[in-house]
Amino acid sequence: MTGSYAPTPLDCPDWIRDWALFLDIDGTLLDLAPDPQAVHIPLRLSTQLAALAHRLGGALALVSGRPLTDIDQFFPGDFDAAGTHGAQWRLGGIESGAGATDDAALARIFATLREEAQRLPGVILERKPHAIAMHYRQAPEQEAQVLCLAGHAVEILGSAFRLQTGKLVIELLPTDVGKGIAIERFMRRPPYFGRTPIFIGDDQTDEDGFAAVNTLGGYSVRVGEGVPTQARFHLHSPAAVRDWLAVLVANL
Ligand SMILES: [Mg+2]
Repeated sequence: MTGSYAPTPLDCPDWIRDWALFLDIDGTLLDLAPDPQAVHIPLRLSTQLAALAHRLGGALALVSGRPLTDIDQFFPGDFDAAGTHGAQWRLGGIESGAGATDDAALARIFATLREEAQRLPGVILERKPHAIAMHYRQAPEQEAQVLCLAGHAVEILGSAFRLQTGKLVIELLPTDVGKGIAIERFMRRPPYFGRTPIFIGDDQTDEDGFAAVNTLGGYSVRVGEGVPTQARFHLHSPAAVRDWLAVLVANL
């Protein structure tokens, strides 16, 4: 782990007993795949996460743009999680939403977008709880068209929704939802309260999570380098994140 000051958390695995660990999934724990459903889940990763969660007194949460159903499919074990960037939220096995969203309006927009997207080969439309994602990883040349469609959609939906761009994906999300808000919500409750938060993410969508843990005196870690970020540390790749987690598990 490289960072602007030393020692790094990696140098001091003993510190983990006081941490609250927040982990993004795609591009952080898992390598990105052309199709979001085609990601490879390394063997033992769930077991390692469960061991870490146990060592942290339960203060480990997966914080992802994916819906909870995906998170549970990839990482069985009823982990604490913020799904769909925090529009879904689960702590200690109890789920709650992000508040009122106009799902009927979202359903109408989804139907329209699905029709429009048929003219854009390689663009994958995903209906999430309280959100819509438009993936164009398989068709980056369609970016302008996709952004245009998404922009028009959010105009129709009004101020209760916002656009969020990620790596070759754009999403329509409730305005009051984000990874920073989700992390802060965990940190106000046991077993997270009073611990030092560490958040590892890889994307623009993780930046408000980095800002939140910086404010809380924690460690922000961005996977990959060469882009402007609020994160104070870097890990090179998802493989490096997994190696680092394996070191933590070995030091338990
Ligand atoms: Mg990610």
